[in-house]
Amino acid sequence: MSPDRLAEINARYHMFSAISPEIPEDAGFLFSAKDNLTSAGMETKCGSRILEGYVPVFDAAAIERMKAAGGALVGKTNMDEFGFGTFSVNSAFGVPLNPFDPERSCGGSSGGSACAAAVLEGHVSLGVSTGGSVSCPASFCGVYGLTPTYGRVSRHGLIDYGNSLDKVGLLSADAPVLGRRLAEISGRDPRDPTSCAQPELSLSGKRISSVAAPEEALRGVSGAVGEAFKASLDRIRESGADVETISMPSLRYAIPAYYVIATCEASTNLARYVGMRYGRQDGDLSLGFDDYFASFRTEYFGDEAKRRILLGTYARMAGFRDRYYAKALRVRAHIIESYKEAFGRFDAVATPTMPFIAPRFSEISAMSPVDSFAADFLTVPPNLAGIPHLSVPCGYSEGMPIGLHVSTDHWREDLLASFAEDWSESFKAERAGVGQ
Ligand code: GLN
Repeated sequence: MSPDRLAEINARYHMFSAISPEIPEDAGFLFSAKDNLTSAGMETKCGSRILEGYVPVFDAAAIERMKAAGGALVGKTNMDEFGFGTFSVNSAFGVPLNPFDPERSCGGSSGGSACAAAVLEGHVSLGVSTGGSVSCPASFCGVYGLTPTYGRVSRHGLIDYGNSLDKVGLLSADAPVLGRRLAEISGRDPRDPTSCAQPELSLSGKRISSVAAPEEALRGVSGAVGEAFKASLDRIRESGADVETISMPSLRYAIPAYYVIATCEASTNLARYVGMRYGRQDGDLSLGFDDYFASFRTEYFGDEAKRRILLGTYARMAGFRDRYYAKALRVRAHIIESYKEAFGRFDAVATPTMPFIAPRFSEISAMSPVDSFAADFLTVPPNLAGIPHLSVPCGYSEGMPIGLHVSTDHWREDLLASFAEDWSESFKAERAGVGQ
């Protein structure tokens, strides 16, 4: 695939924020990476004007390892600014268009990665999830999305959104590729101490033999999604696994806890963008420090980034910290316990991935910020718990894909890799936009 050809495809779908000037013909495989992973010599801007012109001098660990495995990086994928969003509409550099219907969202925040995985043949894309940003776009674009256990893949070179939540994952239309590439990019890395406690990843081929379906997951999903989910559970039963409905009441508190923790972490991470070190540095230098920083941040951060700075700073203020941040951490611990309890009896927990099919852009602009936060209620819980999860295409409504979400215990990506492979053999996923 030549860079020109890629540019043509990009003109149609807006999945890339940068395309490599050269793509070697003898590469083992081609991949793209979300634009919050640093890429040596290639602009990395996280969907934000504040980072425009930032050309890192090193590759993120995940990109480095993909290259070491024979991969060629073909482009950086478009995303919600710093990962803040569910529909990839919060990007300063154009919005990726869903290959099944260009009037609809690709999902977010790794929307460009899902779009590239859906449209390009044999492609794999590195995405990043903080609260569901691999699963959501995978489900809206009808591809497979694997988010590993927190710490499985080094975060070195990943531009932080929420450090206790961020995970590098993989998206592809080709299910068996997920496990293979995960094995290549995972492992300890002294440059990310949180990656150092992990056990070895062994793709044992072991299969999921029991699945819990929390009843809370079906409250608030559309009729079509509910039906596709029930049909998926039947398919799992037919494959020989036990499926049981359980109750996980703590899931209902995941959204408020997540948005407190994530915005607290995000607001501290964004403090480094003041027009001095990375990206743009073209503010009015005759101003004093505070005025320079304030005018620069006002000009170059988008609305959603500003909203998260305000929310996170408020929740961390003396006096509010215990009421919001500390409480959210207790809810998080409670959610982890409920998963541990479920995994004492079952190999996996299954829910739909998103409560609805990819919305139209006109529908998204009518949503309030809270409506859009609430759409994540199924993807946020496993992300808060740091457990691995997988979205697989499981049905279609109005011609748009629906996703099934499967989570397993910490470090059990082996079960997800074999599930993805088995699922792809029995479920014929539709593709859109391929070869255009
Ligand atoms: N939609 C969620 C958010 O806006 C999750 C995004 C992500 O995982 N980066 O925070």
